[in-house]
Amino acid sequence: MNAEIVPKRVRFAFPFAILTKPDTVRLVAGEEFRYTLRSLSLEQWLPQLLSSFEREVEWRPLLNQLPCERHQQALEIITRLYGERVLMEGTGEYPPTPSPLRCVVEGSGKLSERLRGAVPAVLRSAGHVAALCQDTLDYAAALDFNRRCRRSDAAGWLWISCGPMGRGFVSSVFRPHAGPCLGCLIRNFQRLSPAPEIYEHLIEHSCAGGEIPPVPFPAPALDLLAALARWKIESSAQTEPSVGVYRLHVVETDTMECTTHRVFRDPHCPDCSPR
Ligand SMILES: [Zn+2]
Repeated sequence: MNAEIVPKRVRFAFPFAILTKPDTVRLVAGEEFRYTLRSLSLEQWLPQLLSSFEREVEWRPLLNQLPCERHQQALEIITRLYGERVLMEGTGEYPPTPSPLRCVVEGSGKLSERLRGAVPAVLRSAGHVAALCQDTLDYAAALDFNRRCRRSDAAGWLWISCGPMGRGFVSSVFRPHAGPCLGCLIRNFQRLSPAPEIYEHLIEHSCAGGEIPPVPFPAPALDLLAALARWKIESSAQTEPSVGVYRLHVVETDTMECTTHRVFRDPHCPDCSPR
């Protein structure tokens, strides 16, 4: 690899620990990023050079501070580390500032209070993420939220519910112009339910103005649901969201277990299936 490809200013892509042994220097960031460099007496000069990359820096002047006989080796190491994305181009700021979170929280109850406390309040605007928090089994309101979001200019939306009482849900982030949607998820729940007719009855009851009272849910589990929702909303705004953004998370109050599940499009969903 040619050193010409290395940008003028670089920095570490992650906060690396710099470990040394005789003739060995290791860079370790978490469990996934580990690089081992080996050469005679490497540990005597390389760690100092590498520690410069903890902040964005121009690397050529650093090279010139080394004795001449080290230049070629240091150049090869910098080129290799850039090629392996250990070093990345400096952006003029460090650490990079995340883009502001734009989330509109709907719903009432303790779950919505927690999520409102966790994400900064914004006005409805193009590109926001909408979140509906529920502490009841009001599927009619959830389906209405889904339809409104599909018609809006929201970048995505999700549903957080402790309505089932024994478990809480944080849905995947749904996107416009594509399935699955929240309607698909609720239809899949209904299909798997031993009493699917109760879904219809609850929807009819709510649409007729009937009351569905909120259910109790352990406070730490509410914290967990709100934290998961916030995490998904933040990740969904990134260029490469985590895979978990598109999974359903289920928190069981009995076992305290959190599981994730794929969300499938329902080909007969009246909300997102092409007619
Ligand atoms: Zn759908």
